[in-house]
Amino acid sequence: MGTLSGKTAVVTGSTSGIGLAYARAFAGAGANIVINGFGAPADIEKERSAIEKDFGVKAVHSPADMTKPEEIAEMIALGEKTYGSVDILVNNAGVQFVSPIEEFPIDKWNMIIAINLSSAFHSIRAAVPGMKKRGWGRIINTASAHSLVASPFKSAYVSAKHGIAGLTKAVALELATHKITANCISPGYVWTPLVEKQIPDTMKARGMTKEQVINDVMLDAQPTKEFVTVEQVAALALFLCGDDAAQITGANLSIDGGWTAA
Ligand code: NAD
Repeated sequence: MGTLSGKTAVVTGSTSGIGLAYARAFAGAGANIVINGFGAPADIEKERSAIEKDFGVKAVHSPADMTKPEEIAEMIALGEKTYGSVDILVNNAGVQFVSPIEEFPIDKWNMIIAINLSSAFHSIRAAVPGMKKRGWGRIINTASAHSLVASPFKSAYVSAKHGIAGLTKAVALELATHKITANCISPGYVWTPLVEKQIPDTMKARGMTKEQVINDVMLDAQPTKEFVTVEQVAALALFLCGDDAAQITGANLSIDGGWTAA
């Protein structure tokens, strides 16, 4: 029996990167899982079945697109229908686009706000009634160091991440007497496909080589000079789900190698 046995966790954007590490950490503690996100069907099936096989829990995939409110509600309903409850909700799906503001494509702005911010509003809205009814819940939002500080060329991302930090605080206060906590985890640079993919655009925007982007932009911001690992981020999320974290709510927890201390 794991500490999360009998509980269900929905993790958005969990076909890759940090989200997949969250899903595997919760499964390791005994929770049933709803994974979500895009990818080749065979790759998603491989990750889904590996969660079941590695941890002896159940896992289903919701194909919900985080830009579509009705699909987000269906994702929460899928968890409730399949397992009887959604106890842990992790809003993690996120995308990045790097551009000077005067050239920033309007559709990219709208997409980043929808996926990185509004999707959390829609999923929390759908999951809270069940959590309130059962008198227990954990809401964890993957924010970012960019919820606390800014970088140039990331106007949409920084706006969405500052927004999710505010949303988290409002929700934490609303739910404070219901044994439901809401917190942000704010990683610095974690080596995932999201980070890898932004290297070419940053090279273009700043006129740098790949090595310069990695060392002079990314790790320059991180005093430890090391990337955060997905496992380290997932371990913090798992802690937030435990009884020891019952009084941590409305917090924005940095895991950024000292970035935002500077
Ligand atoms: P990733 O690219 O590896 O994973 C992103 C996930 O989101 C994937 O599963 C993808 O399929 C999913 N996704 C994208 N668009 C979607 C949509 N419309 N609907 C549903 N799913 C969608 O990225 P990651 O680095 O693991 O990032 C996860 C979260 O962590 C993001 O919110 C990101 O902003 C945040 N974050 C990442 C870092 C980092 O350095 N990697 C740092 C701070 C915060």
